[in-house]
Amino acid sequence: MLRALFPGSFDPPTNGHLNIVDRCVRIFDEIVVVVATNPQKSYSFSAEERYAMVAEMMEPYDNVRVRHWNRLIVECAEEEHAKVMVRGVRALDDFSYEFELSMINRGLNSRIETLLIPTDPQYFVLRSTAIKELARLDGDISTMVPPNVARRLRERFQRQG
Ligand code: ADP
Repeated sequence: MLRALFPGSFDPPTNGHLNIVDRCVRIFDEIVVVVATNPQKSYSFSAEERYAMVAEMMEPYDNVRVRHWNRLIVECAEEEHAKVMVRGVRALDDFSYEFELSMINRGLNSRIETLLIPTDPQYFVLRSTAIKELARLDGDISTMVPPNVARRLRERFQRQG
């Protein structure tokens, strides 16, 4: 049984995240999408909201589980008996960040491998922060996030005005 973790903030989840999962389900027996909360970071959506959005998106997949985690991600991988942690890479600046992160995680636990998956060109420009800006300005985000996420973004940002 080859299990992989896909950790992230998912603040909010996008079609780019979905694409990574969609490709991973064909490689691994099981994917655990980990909605991570870092106590040092601030988020637009609560852990419960991020979890709910990701869980809705993952409903079609039999071999994807969603969970929340607020400690070191390698500890989650260890608890889940996952050998692999998947991260997505959009551009070169993502790569240097992800590369450094993988070094840190490897230092913490060398039994867990980080696998970097380059984005599909279609999702190259998708960033959660840019999508939130667009939602605030009432821009069209329908091709960037699934309908359940678009609805929550509209509710959140249009209420704030
Ligand atoms: P984090 O705060 O941990 O970086 P994110 O939710 O921003 O969490 O991203 C989780 C993972 O998904 C990261 O590895 C990120 O590079 C990847 N990712 C985000 N957007 C895309 C995209 N459009 N295409 C491919 N990978 C992506």
